[in-house]
Amino acid sequence: MKYQSLRGTHDILPEETPVWQYVETKIHDKFQSFGFEEIRTPIIEQSELFTRSIGGATDIVSKEMYTFTDKGGRSITLRPEATASVVRAVIEHSLISKDKVTKTYYIGPMFRYERPQAGRFRQFYQAGIEMFGASSAFADAEVILAGILLFGSFGIKSLEVDINSVGCQVCRPKYNKELSSFLKDHLSELCVDCGARFTTNPLRILDCKNEKCRKVLASAPSLNEMICDDCRAHLEQTEDLLKLSHVEVRRNDKLVRGLDYYTGTIFEIVSRELGAQNAVCGGGRYDSLVKELGGSDIPAVGMAIGLERLIEVMRMQKLLPEKEQGISVYIAALGQDAQKTAFAKMVELLKEGICADMDFSGKSLKSQLKTADNLGARYVLMIGEDELKKGSFPLRDMKTGQQKGIKLEELLREIEPTC
Ligand code: ATP
Ligand code: MG
Repeated sequence: MKYQSLRGTHDILPEETPVWQYVETKIHDKFQSFGFEEIRTPIIEQSELFTRSIGGATDIVSKEMYTFTDKGGRSITLRPEATASVVRAVIEHSLISKDKVTKTYYIGPMFRYERPQAGRFRQFYQAGIEMFGASSAFADAEVILAGILLFGSFGIKSLEVDINSVGCQVCRPKYNKELSSFLKDHLSELCVDCGARFTTNPLRILDCKNEKCRKVLASAPSLNEMICDDCRAHLEQTEDLLKLSHVEVRRNDKLVRGLDYYTGTIFEIVSRELGAQNAVCGGGRYDSLVKELGGSDIPAVGMAIGLERLIEVMRMQKLLPEKEQGISVYIAALGQDAQKTAFAKMVELLKEGICADMDFSGKSLKSQLKTADNLGARYVLMIGEDELKKGSFPLRDMKTGQQKGIKLEELLREIEPTC
């Protein structure tokens, strides 16, 4: 029986991990420079946390959650996103209050039972930020800017910010009513999914990608024309602050998000190069969620970046980092005594923090040199029985090809470490 990773999940192999480490390091640096602090929450939570926050009628909750019953009979779910978990944690540990701003960020895997395709997986990584306690548009602009500056730090070009408002508890129900009464007369023209959404989540129909639905929606009542003055002012102010920061924003009045907790200003950062799955980042304001999950009435705004899609954009724009340099010293040892001396020398180098490796298997010199080459070793030190007797050991500089005899105690002076 040969086992394979589950559909929609993938291994990140040693040759790819340097890219991930590079991306993750930049994320830590950038988010921390904005004053966000990392939070790590469990991958599993009680299912109700997600049903309650994301919403029972959303695709995520109704179709995509990995849910199971544990041995204690509890319903548990692998997190499909991190906002609900972060909100749970900041309430549980009293990290937030009305009179202060709390800034958190996270990086980690999320799980959704989706149809796997390019840019869409069942286990994927997100990095995101959540800011609590600030209701003004400055907070939204800062959150969006954190994403934009992060992408900029990789050298990514041609990303666009789509922005909209999904309205608040005052104006959204009114719009929903208008939209439903408009759609009622067009039900037969909608796709099967939207037919079902009409009763459960009509707002979601707005961003259906199906041609038939798009045609119907062209004449649907506009969300932008119906939002209340507060929502409109907040949206416009966010746009102004971004323009002031030289970030291009585009109003997209069909943009809605797939999670029910959003209120007011929402956004996506998209790459036109990515094809169908073009959103690299999505987020917005969720002012009622903290209260909904048992906390005080504290406003919040956040965003999440899909790391696989981010890395794909970097790959397309040739922005992936060059392969790291190999180890500094490889010690080729021939014979049992030589191996012992080589091991002691390797330990000495490692204690100095210099990357070093050696052969344990007693292979031929030729094959040991080949291994050194594969490891990208800068130097090879050769230790054999004859050299041990003479006390002089060949040191080869693999970059220049030059070789000279040295004493073991001279090694540290003779090399330029690569790490
Ligand atoms: P989409 O519209 O592409 O399904 P979404 O609105 O469901 O995205 P969010 O829940 O807002 O996405 O997640 C934020 C980001 O996480 C997305 O912009 C995307 O980059 C990434 N993402 C979401 N779902 C997946 C997935 N199944 N596989 C890979 N990346 C994903
Ligand atoms: Mg989705």
